[in-house]
Amino acid sequence: MIIDLIDKLYKTNYLEHDELVYLIYNMDEYGKEYLFEKANKIRMKTYGSKVYMRGLIEFTNYCKKGCKYCGINVANKNIERYRLNIEEILQCCEIGYDLGYRTFVLQGGEDDYYTDEMMIEIIKTIKDKYLDVAITLSIGEKSYESYEKYFKAGADRYLLRHETADVKLFKKIHTNSYYKNRMKCLWNLKKIGYQVGAGFMVGIPSQTKEDLAKDILFLKELEPEMVGIGPFIPHKDTIYKDEQAGTLEDTITMIALTRLFLPYSLLPATTALGTIDPLGSEKGLKAGANVVMPNLSPTSVREKYSLYDGKICTGDEAAECRNCIEKRIVSAGFSVDMSRGDHINWRKRYD
Ligand code: SAM
Repeated sequence: MIIDLIDKLYKTNYLEHDELVYLIYNMDEYGKEYLFEKANKIRMKTYGSKVYMRGLIEFTNYCKKGCKYCGINVANKNIERYRLNIEEILQCCEIGYDLGYRTFVLQGGEDDYYTDEMMIEIIKTIKDKYLDVAITLSIGEKSYESYEKYFKAGADRYLLRHETADVKLFKKIHTNSYYKNRMKCLWNLKKIGYQVGAGFMVGIPSQTKEDLAKDILFLKELEPEMVGIGPFIPHKDTIYKDEQAGTLEDTITMIALTRLFLPYSLLPATTALGTIDPLGSEKGLKAGANVVMPNLSPTSVREKYSLYDGKICTGDEAAECRNCIEKRIVSAGFSVDMSRGDHINWRKRYD
């Protein structure tokens, strides 16, 4: 029955809610192996063995949001806050560009210090200097107007994980972030024309298998170009400090299912996945992931951008990260692609 459902998903890229819940509940070792094999087969058909590299710049750990799971949430008084100025951000880009990166991901907490005008200046300066790079923003929930301004300034992509598609669970794990608004933001980003990244955490305290099925069916409806799926990992300064982290197996199962539901999506093997298992990145790639996001932030701030405990690679210079991840990609049987790495159907949508 499990194998039949995986075959059906492979052929049609869709399962009904009850079928998906059944599959997640009854997934055994053999089923997982079969699922990973099918997910890898689809990714080989769509993107081949290429793994796209994105240079991640974590430019602020100030945040006005109170996400209960997150180490940089506003209530955490134990962390040293930092902000990078435009020169420091440009320096990260310069190092990244020289290492071959053609996508820069600017990520941060929700920090109103960076006004729209500042963000526009940052985006325009990078795009003027580097004509062949893509900019991905990941700076949280903003108004339609702000998203539109960034897009017009040259931002290409936007990552905003939906975190969980279950309203009740969303409410439980957030204080001043609201499900409706987060979803509205995602639809707004799509409407404006960004390549959009949604995504969710696996293993959030009290999350059920039905919740995970909802996540995947929500993604199928939204059809984002990118999907970030990573395990929840506790942070010592949050109320979830004593909770269990999400597991590698559950996370890569969700990655593989997402690959089958959305064959053309760009799916990162996340840093959180590499944090919970030394071979997490490789296993993620083998289950259908095709993006990695090595860190370009200055090493002096890496530890301070601590969303969860045990974050890897905080001491490595950008060049070391670049080389280390390349080795991992190649050893897992894939190849590094340093191009912009747009979604395969992207141009078709606009040409
Ligand atoms: N502020 C932006 C936003 O809200 O999208 C981007 C930064 S936010 C810190 C990036 C992502 O980190 C979140 O979408 C969340 O899924 C992830 N994250 C935060 N805390 C985490 C934890 N304890 N374990 C795993 N992932 C976590």
